[in-house]
Amino acid sequence: MNGADFFLVTNFLIGLSFAVVFLIVSTRSRSRIAAQWIAAAYAVASFSTISELLVAHTDWVKLFAVAAFATVLAGLLLIRVGIGRLYGVPARPGLLISLFCVSIGLDLAIYDLPRGTWVHSLTYQTPFALAVFFSAAAVLRSSRRTAIDRAMAVLLLAAGLQFLLKAVTAVLVGAGRTAADYVHSYYALVSQSMTGVFVVIIGLMLLSVFVLEIMAEERSNSEVDALSEVLNRRGFDNHCDLALRRIRGPHAVVLCDLDHFKKVNDTYGHYAGDCVIRAFAQLLQASAPDTAVIGRLGGEEFCVMLPGVPMDAALMFAQAVRGSFAVQAMPNMPHGFRMTASFGVATFHNAVELSAAIRNADGALYDAKASGRNCVRSHRERSGVSLVVL
Ligand code: GH3
Ligand code: MG
Ligand code: MG
Repeated sequence: MNGADFFLVTNFLIGLSFAVVFLIVSTRSRSRIAAQWIAAAYAVASFSTISELLVAHTDWVKLFAVAAFATVLAGLLLIRVGIGRLYGVPARPGLLISLFCVSIGLDLAIYDLPRGTWVHSLTYQTPFALAVFFSAAAVLRSSRRTAIDRAMAVLLLAAGLQFLLKAVTAVLVGAGRTAADYVHSYYALVSQSMTGVFVVIIGLMLLSVFVLEIMAEERSNSEVDALSEVLNRRGFDNHCDLALRRIRGPHAVVLCDLDHFKKVNDTYGHYAGDCVIRAFAQLLQASAPDTAVIGRLGGEEFCVMLPGVPMDAALMFAQAVRGSFAVQAMPNMPHGFRMTASFGVATFHNAVELSAAIRNADGALYDAKASGRNCVRSHRERSGVSLVVL
């Protein structure tokens, strides 16, 4: 086994390993189908190395030379399909299939031309470059703009250019006169090692995108309350931190607590109580602005942080929610059953003051309960006294 053969076998094993790893990743990823397409791409492309070995070591040179070309190209086009799924930029099957068929036709047409000429080299490498450029274009057209996505686009552009560079190298260094010579040429060594490096880097980069996506999903699951589907305490704190960094104050917090909720549980059961909690959370989500951070801080106690919202607007928001909830029919409850909630509102100016503002809103909420419930009270900043709002 010579040096080029060794690289071929190594590339084959690397390609297959990536296929297996992407299949494993697909079992955990939200972008399951994307990972499966990329696994298929690596599996198909890895067989090009076996084809090239067979070119050198069997008499069916033409068959395996074309098979090597076809499997690399098919792999690159499958990567485009997978990247399209991952980045939300679907591939156009007609375009990819046409590129594949035309390229195979051209490969057959140039088969007997001497290798190492401009016509042969460029005709051979351009379809690969185009296929990778399609993937780069998909990443660039997508709405994802994180550092790793930009790095992915640059890497794919470099990989595309690498194929064109190979065409130049084939002319300058010599690629062997025939397909069988190729495997023993110096060019084959350079070509295979360059391809190997790109196969590994693109694979690792794609894996990082999937792993980061899985981690983000896990983190967001750990921040969401399963019953109400709004943020839990941890999620609420984290999201408030992020929102308060972006938006200038004053900000408001609205603390909400369902009235006489114990009675609901005692009279209609825990399941009915859960449905009421869910209905209230849905109302908050439907009523709050997009910038609001909504959390379930305890049993039937919710907090809405309204970044950049002054007291007047926060009170109007609380009043609107209070009014809607008081007239809303509840799921799984007898006809005519109505619930109410009480609200405490406080304002603050920066993230450091958030917990104090929640305490102030809690004081105002206590006043709302003491005032007979189903009402909104605000905390007046300097005196700490709650103001009557309804
Ligand atoms: P108030 O008007 O003063 O708020 O009276 P309340 O009955 O609502 O009193 P409180 O806020 O202390 O009651 C909270 C109750 O919420 C007690 C607990 O059994 C119930 N609870 C807490 N978590 C859940 C939950 O996840 N599901 C249900 N169904 N009930 C819960
Ligand atoms: Mg309550
Ligand atoms: Mg409570």
